[in-house]
Amino acid sequence: MVVYMNGQYVKSEEAKISVWDHGFLYGDGVFEGIRAYGGKLFKLRDHLVRLYKSAKSLKITIPVTLEEMEKAVVETCRKNDLRDAYVRLVVSRGVGDLGIDPRKCKAAGPTVVIIADKIALYPRETYEVGLKVVTASTRKNISAAFNAQIKSLNYLNNILAKIEAIEAGAAEALMVNREGFVTECTTENIFIFTRGTLITPPVYVGILEGITRNTIIERAQRRGIAVREEPFTPHDIYVADECFVTGTGAEVIPVVLLDGRTIGDGVPGKVTMALLEDYRALTASEGTPLYE
Ligand code: PMP
Repeated sequence: MVVYMNGQYVKSEEAKISVWDHGFLYGDGVFEGIRAYGGKLFKLRDHLVRLYKSAKSLKITIPVTLEEMEKAVVETCRKNDLRDAYVRLVVSRGVGDLGIDPRKCKAAGPTVVIIADKIALYPRETYEVGLKVVTASTRKNISAAFNAQIKSLNYLNNILAKIEAIEAGAAEALMVNREGFVTECTTENIFIFTRGTLITPPVYVGILEGITRNTIIERAQRRGIAVREEPFTPHDIYVADECFVTGTGAEVIPVVLLDGRTIGDGVPGKVTMALLEDYRALTASEGTPLYE
């Protein structure tokens, strides 16, 4: 495997980060996860736009333009001869002396890394059987403390919730905000389908504005399904007809159990599966080509 590091393509054994990198020392940086399907990068632009927005919010100036980054992502996939891939883009504040002051990294500038690897797919069974989810006691960070729209290198809030899920024998944890409204799972957005309407939490409750989430909203609307972005509570999930989570890695995964309550019939819902099918058709047909 070959890894892009600050403009160079290096062998994975040699792709190493300094212990002085503020991404390592303080989680000071941003990232993206992008997928390639059959030689095409899905929603590459959207992921890059989000990366640059995350960096801007943290006052990290990415040293390459979005267009250059786009080319570098394509090139990293090509150099690794990948067609179906998972791309991890990481930009950290860079190398600097100890101490959180971002100015310490000014001289070296940000560290930019692109890793393209084979995709580790969720087992087929996950889509057929559905997920068991628990509501974590760890609350979602309040937006006034840290805005969830920034895809930062500090995932501890989500990791604490994930630990709770693992301890409870569940696949995922649902995170609620300080007011008790549903936000998202640890690395996926969430939807419910109830009385003919698809509902997902609005960005302002404290979520990452998922690219898969936005794609699903669009697909559902095209199918003529009413979609609303509005706050709801775990109770609304318990009594929903269907529930699913969305993410670049997950695509669309049905949720069949939350906190011991069976959702709908306890099997993946019809609308959920139709949207998964739509999503797969889209990922198979559109994207930025990797090869001529
Ligand atoms: N929420 C969180 C916290 C995430 O980390 C992710 C990305 N894995 C998502 C939602 C889903 O976002 P996307 O659909 O853009 O992958």
